[in-house]
Amino acid sequence: MGKITGFKEYDREVSKERDVKARIKDYKEVYDRLTEDKVKIQAARCMNCGTPFCSWGCPLGNLMPDFNDMVYNDQWKKAYERISLTSNFPEFTGRVCPALCEGSCTLGDNSDAVSVKEVEYAIIEMAYKEGWVKPAEPKVRTGKKVAIIGSGPAGLAAAAELNSVGHNVTVFERDNKVGGLLRYGIPDFKLEKHVIDRRVDIMTKSGIEFKTSTNVGYDISIQDIKNEFDVVLLTGGSTIPRDLKVEGRELNGIHFAVDYLKQQNMRNSGLNIDGEEITAKDKVVVVVGGGDTGSDCIGTAIRQGAKAVYQYEIMPKPPTERDETMPWPLFPKVFKTTSSHEEGCIREFCVSTKKVEGKDGFIENLKGIRVEWEKDASGRMSMKEVEGSEFEQKVDLILIAMGFVHPQHEGAINDLGLKLDGRGNVVADENYKTSDDKVFTAGDMRTGQSLVVHAIHDGRQAAKAIDEYLMGESSLLG
Ligand SMILES: Cc1cc2nc3c(=O)[nH]c(=O)nc-3n(C[C@H](O)[C@H](O)[C@H](O)COP(=O)(O)OP(=O)(O)OC[C@H]3O[C@@H](n4cnc5c(N)ncnc54)[C@H](O)[C@@H]3O)c2cc1C
Ligand code: SF4
Repeated sequence: MGKITGFKEYDREVSKERDVKARIKDYKEVYDRLTEDKVKIQAARCMNCGTPFCSWGCPLGNLMPDFNDMVYNDQWKKAYERISLTSNFPEFTGRVCPALCEGSCTLGDNSDAVSVKEVEYAIIEMAYKEGWVKPAEPKVRTGKKVAIIGSGPAGLAAAAELNSVGHNVTVFERDNKVGGLLRYGIPDFKLEKHVIDRRVDIMTKSGIEFKTSTNVGYDISIQDIKNEFDVVLLTGGSTIPRDLKVEGRELNGIHFAVDYLKQQNMRNSGLNIDGEEITAKDKVVVVVGGGDTGSDCIGTAIRQGAKAVYQYEIMPKPPTERDETMPWPLFPKVFKTTSSHEEGCIREFCVSTKKVEGKDGFIENLKGIRVEWEKDASGRMSMKEVEGSEFEQKVDLILIAMGFVHPQHEGAINDLGLKLDGRGNVVADENYKTSDDKVFTAGDMRTGQSLVVHAIHDGRQAAKAIDEYLMGESSLLG
């Protein structure tokens, strides 16, 4: 524990967002980061409590009390080595993780939680700056070949782990660049893409092969891959978006959030867009769906020059503080205002979209109605439309951000005849093995849509299971 009285002396501080007027003119990350000295002070607030609930709250089991102490004592390299034991990519989670750990911080029970995510970010950025993050080729190769299908955080984490113990890893990716939703879902203002490039460069120099623009099941058959490799790991994500099934859905001007976000991420990287360009410039935009993907659409639409942006969520507004349904140390699912919300949008809760009307094939009007939610005796929520609350909203662009239903079944999953669960995700046993003895799965494809930190954790666990399958035992930590 760096400073015994730190938590009494210092207040919580986090990075400040850049001025709204300035930041909406670019796609750069929104934060001005804390200085090194300020991060040390934040690390000093850690109480090194007997049971570190933060480590329990973090899916990766990151060792916050250890690295907080090291940062406070200026042992940055040691802190980097400590976080590297449990996490492959602190630079991703240090930017986009909702900081599940902070929801479980003991100090947070009656004060403000330790700014763990700030410390994590500072450690990894220091490590890159000082040249401590280096390619590491394994000393011995096992001769075993592993194919990983999908280069999102789950596939990347598994690749890093399996390569580190000497297996020959090839990652197949249908997009033209590596990263999955890190690259083509999450906007640059949350995660600039050079952050992915520098990691992929290190992974390539460590011996991992990436085959991009290769759609497995189409450009190459999964059977051929199975024949060539000792093990296949499917990490294709949860890619089928939930649709808005209302009258008028077929009109022009309605798009899935991820198609829209992908285009802007491509533009930012100087890549060409095939087909219809989707832009919010000079348009009234309605984002249907109140989650983080919807929020990413808002920030993007504002940067593109939208006239006005509305966000409609069908569920009620969450409570502003913890209630009895989410006692500490559980993560509090409370009302959240993101940097995109602050940039200017009208947020509405308990709104259901009923119909879209248009003229000459293009959308003009969204017809909605207010709803009420009630809990029945069993705790199940049921929805009722509020009579007389119908309304109309003029609209030029509707973005559907209602989540994802399951992975794409056509192609590799169907070709292998894999068993699916009730929601359409790929079933795996406790060893991450699917119904095919040679095929494993991890990430959103297995769990349904989730978080980057969960995908990394799943990839690490699957890598350990694969290593055990190939070698009979594993030194990987999972
Ligand atoms: C817009 C948006 C914003 C988000 N923001 C956050 C956030 O701020 N914080 C957070 O924690 N989480 C966020 N998430 C969730 C997070 O991005 C995902 O949970 C995570 O990326 C899942 O990782 P994954 O590796 O399982 O799959 P993905 O990241 O989806 O990657 C799967 C990859 O597999 C490839 N693939 C699929 N099929 C094939 C095939 N047949 N052949 C070759 N390649 C294939 C895909 O092209 C893709 O690159 C966000 C999600 C979205 C949609
Ligand atoms: S990965 Fe997320 S939960 Fe884990 S330490 Fe980092 S911010 Fe906290």
